[in-house]
Amino acid sequence: MFSYMTPRKKTEYLPKLIEIQDGFTCYLCKKPLHGNDWIYEHLDGDKQHNDIGNIRLAHQSCNIAKLNSPEFQIIARNELEKESEKCLKGRKKEDNEGLEHYSSEIEINIKCRNYTKKFITERVVTDGSILYSDALWGIVNDLNEKYNHGSEQAVRRYLNALCSITGKFMITKNAEGKKIIVKRIGN
Ligand SMILES: [Zn+2]
Repeated sequence: MFSYMTPRKKTEYLPKLIEIQDGFTCYLCKKPLHGNDWIYEHLDGDKQHNDIGNIRLAHQSCNIAKLNSPEFQIIARNELEKESEKCLKGRKKEDNEGLEHYSSEIEINIKCRNYTKKFITERVVTDGSILYSDALWGIVNDLNEKYNHGSEQAVRRYLNALCSITGKFMITKNAEGKKIIVKRIGN
């Protein structure tokens, strides 16, 4: 649908544009605007592109003069570039916030993994083995108390990694057929 700027949008934009342009002035010749000799110009020439970043106030005469004025065309292009930089900065800020959240997630995962390793190492060194279910629920409980973190699935993942072929421990079964964690033979 082809949509020109609505009168409502114009009213909404006017005070914002006056602020952006440091007064009720023409962005091209920088002189004050007055009477009816001014317009809402679309910087990129696309009359359906009505983001405020694409709109500037200009004399009607300057807007027409721009067609044949390289100087005015450069001013218009600079305004557009300033706006796209503003957008990029805004986006970068959002990215950084996402990254901070992401790195604290990683940090907590490392802490939980390290705690799991410490827990298993201590028990297995002193007792020779630990029941898998005791280890699982003991660690889940400790992690939730310490870090407010640690689901059953996450702890199962940590334990499986510790007991993988390259880990220091392994899962086997005791005489009663229950899963236990012991030191991996050969390590
Ligand atoms: Zn002007």
